[in-house]
Amino acid sequence: MRTSQLLIPTLRQTPGEADVVSHRLMLRAGMIRKTAAGIYTYLPLGLRVLKKIEGIVRREMERAGAQELLMPILAPAQLWRETGRWDFYGKELLRCRDRHDREFCFGPTHEEVITDLFRREVRSYRQLPLNCYQIQTKFRDEIRPRFGLMRGREFLMKDAYSFDADEAGARVSYQKMYTAYERIFTRCGLAFRAVEAHTGLIGGSLSHEFMVLSDTGEETIVYDEHTDYAANIEQAETTPPADTDDAAPLPLEPVRTPGAHTVRDVCALLNTTPDRLVKTLLYQTPARDVVAVLIRGDHDANTIKLARCLGVADVTLAGADAVLKATSAPVGFAGPVGLAGIRLVADHAVKAMRNFIVGGNEQDLHLRHANHGRDFSVEAFADLRQARAGDPSPASGSRLREAKGIEVGHVFLLGTKYSEAMRATFLDANGQERAAVMGCYGIGVSRTAAAAIEQHHDDRGIVWPVPIAPFHAHLLPVTASEQTLHTAGMMYEALTEAGVEVLWDDRDERAGVKLNDADLIGAPLQILVGDKGLARGVVEVKRRDTGAITELPPNEILPHLRNLLATHDLP
Ligand code: ATP
Ligand code: MG
Repeated sequence: MRTSQLLIPTLRQTPGEADVVSHRLMLRAGMIRKTAAGIYTYLPLGLRVLKKIEGIVRREMERAGAQELLMPILAPAQLWRETGRWDFYGKELLRCRDRHDREFCFGPTHEEVITDLFRREVRSYRQLPLNCYQIQTKFRDEIRPRFGLMRGREFLMKDAYSFDADEAGARVSYQKMYTAYERIFTRCGLAFRAVEAHTGLIGGSLSHEFMVLSDTGEETIVYDEHTDYAANIEQAETTPPADTDDAAPLPLEPVRTPGAHTVRDVCALLNTTPDRLVKTLLYQTPARDVVAVLIRGDHDANTIKLARCLGVADVTLAGADAVLKATSAPVGFAGPVGLAGIRLVADHAVKAMRNFIVGGNEQDLHLRHANHGRDFSVEAFADLRQARAGDPSPASGSRLREAKGIEVGHVFLLGTKYSEAMRATFLDANGQERAAVMGCYGIGVSRTAAAAIEQHHDDRGIVWPVPIAPFHAHLLPVTASEQTLHTAGMMYEALTEAGVEVLWDDRDERAGVKLNDADLIGAPLQILVGDKGLARGVVEVKRRDTGAITELPPNEILPHLRNLLATHDLP
C-alpha cells in the first residue's frame, strides 16, 4: 500500500497522556487514537496488526478443533441473573435498557450466552466434545482504564468455550487449548510463561494465565529457573519452613511500646528483626464477621488464600472501628492472647516459631515470648501468606525468582458451575441427564499487540516480530530523481505481486522524515532506494532489528526477502 493513500498520522512528539512505551509508540506510529477513556479507534496500521494476531489465533483454534461463531455484544440481563453474576459482577458490567425498558449488558465475557445456546441446541453425548470460539469486542467498565490498549474498557478478545461429557474429557479440552495458546504466543514472537492462576470472577477449579514477560506488566509472577513451575504471585503456594525453632518456652512478658504500631517501629524499639514478630491482622467476611490472622512479621497476608481457608467469597481488612471493637486497642496493637470470640487462623510459618512478639490488645503494649498452644490456640495453620522471590520452589526447592508479566491469555477449567446454574444438560450413553463440564479460554487480542511492543522496541520505535508486523517491508525512496521513483514503483509492483506486504512511502518528503517514520512504524525490513546505490546497480535492504544492511540488485531482492521473512513458522 502507499503511504500517501493511508491514514498514518505519525507524531514526532511523545503525547503527554501515555505512560508506557507501547501506548506512546502506538500513538506516535499513528496506529490508534483515543475516542474516550479506555476506548480507542484502530487506525489502518493498528488494525492490520490486530488482523495478523487474529489470523494466528484462528489457525491455532481450528487446529485444536474449535469452531468459530459470533455472539451478540449485548446480552439480556435474564441470562446473567440465572448465574447470579448480574449482581456479583459489580460495576465492571456496563448495563443499559432498550426502548421497552428491558435490561441488557455489554458482554465482558460470554459464559452465559454460550451456555444458553448449548442448552437449547445440544441434546446428546454424541454431540460432544464441543468447542466454540469468537473474536469480538468486549466491554468492561474498568475502574482505571490505562496504558492504552493494555487495559481498555472496550477491547478485542478471543473467547472460546468447551463442553465435555465428563471431567476427564474437559481436561483433554483444557490441555488442547493450553497447547494452542503456547503455539499462538510463540508464533506471535513473544517471550512468555504459563503460570498457575487464581480463577477470580469467572470461577472454576484449574486455571493458567499466559504472561508476556515485561517490566511494565501489572502482574507479578514467581518462577523456578530449574523446572517449569511458575505461578501468579497471588496463587503461588508457599511451603512451611523445614525446621521448627526448638527453644524452650520463656515466660510471657508485657513490654511497653509507645507509638510503635508498625512491624518496623516495634523491631527498632525492641532491637529485633521482623521474623521474630507475629502480626495479628483482622479481616471481615462478607457476613461482617471479624477473623484474626497471624502472619510472620516479614511476610504479607494473601487474602485469596485466606478467603479460601475460611470458606468465604472474599475478605477485606477491618477498619479502625472494627479493630477497636474487637481488640479494645487502636490499629497496630492487636494480638492473639486473650482475643475472645473471634476465629483465629495462622500462616504455617508461624507454627515453626517459639517465643515471638505479638500485640498486647492495648494501646502501646506488646507481648514478648508468646507461644501458640500455651498462650492462645489457633483454629488452623494453613498457607495464608503471599509468596515472594527467594522462597523455596514447591517443585524443586531451589529459590523462586520474581518477574513482571502482562496477562495476555487465561484458560479456565470451569466444571459445571455455569451448566448447573443454567441447566445445560445432555443425555449420556445410558440416557441419563448430565450437566456439561465446561472450560473457557480468553486471549486479549488488542492487549497482545501492546504487549508485543513492550517486548519489541528500541529508542527509535517499534521492532515488530515478522508474523504480526503491519507490513513486511517498508519501501523508501530516499532521493527524488526520476530513476529512483521509477525503480521504487517497479519494485513495489513486483514484490506486492509476489505476496510481500509492502508499504511504499511515496510521499514527497525528505529522506530523514521517511527514515524516522519507518523506524517508528517498525516493519521488519526497510528497502532503501537512492541515486547513489542505483549508480552501482544496487538498493539496500536493512533489518529493523539488527540494523544490518545488505546491498543487492533490485531483481535479487525477492528471494532475499523471502529468506528473511521465513522465520517463526511452526510445524
Ligand atoms: P485482568 O486481571 O488484567 O483484568 P482478567 O483476568 O480480568 O484480566 P480475563 O477475564 O481472563 O481477564 O479475560 C481474558 C483476557 O482478556 C485477559 O487474559 C486479557 O488478555 C484480556 N483483557 C482482560 N481485560 C482487559 C482489558 N481491560 N483491556 C484489554 N484486554 C483485557
Ligand atoms: Mg479484569
